[in-house]
Amino acid sequence: MVQRRHVVRPQMFRRGGGGSGLKMRLVMGLMIAAVAVCSFLGSRSFNPVTGEDQYISLTTDQEIAMGLQAAPEMIQTYGGLYPDQQTQDLVDQVGYQIVQNSSAGQTDWQFDFHVLNDPETINAFALPGGPVFITSALLSRLETEGQLAGVLGHEIGHVVARHSAQRIAQQNLSEGLIGAVVVAGGDYGQQAGQAAVVISQMVNMSYGRDDELQSDQLGVRFMSQAGYDPRAMINVMQILAEAGGGSQPEFFSTHPNPENRIQRIEEAIQAEFPDGVPEGLTP
Ligand SMILES: [Zn+2]
Repeated sequence: MVQRRHVVRPQMFRRGGGGSGLKMRLVMGLMIAAVAVCSFLGSRSFNPVTGEDQYISLTTDQEIAMGLQAAPEMIQTYGGLYPDQQTQDLVDQVGYQIVQNSSAGQTDWQFDFHVLNDPETINAFALPGGPVFITSALLSRLETEGQLAGVLGHEIGHVVARHSAQRIAQQNLSEGLIGAVVVAGGDYGQQAGQAAVVISQMVNMSYGRDDELQSDQLGVRFMSQAGYDPRAMINVMQILAEAGGGSQPEFFSTHPNPENRIQRIEEAIQAEFPDGVPEGLTP
């Protein structure tokens, strides 16, 4: 026969408990926050291509493995690989031309270029560690090799700057801090936690914009080093803006406005070629 025993809950864990409960929650919240902040700050590494310190919790090998693992699903989501081998070869050729002749090639990333068989979605993207994709919809709108170099250069920029891995580390940090707020907040923890989630989303969105601008800038540098006219990157932005029509292309989704982006690209070109863009680059 089973006897039910009455369980007395200690004062400090009682809902809305007294002062000792509050102190306990604050101590636990601070501990959780401290662990999150320490593991984030402990992951600092220097990126020789961007010249910046960044916080990353993945090793190079882990990052490459992550991208390779995600690639088949990405390909499937966007209609499989584009069936024309000549088109795939052209994109490969331009991609490797950039990698082999720019500072992007002085890294361990395993670059790989693919055209996706999606005639609707105007987009290009990169997975962690090196796989780069462009949809046939975007490719068909490009008019020159230099414009293709602009798109690929931008995506190579995301890989080299390790934007995905950086986002993962930041997400771990914000999850840790939100957890700390929920624990410390006690009865109000859920509401405080929701507010913290909104704030962290806003922060992450602004990071997204910074990532795009940095990739534009790196793209300008890499394509220029490889002999492409960086002004083609401005044409890419114009093509994307026109293609957008009523609905914005996904390429812009994290972005304030194309004009601002074009202005920043012009500044990057100016920085790359202070005396003006030289003659003879591939348009
Ligand atoms: Zn981008």
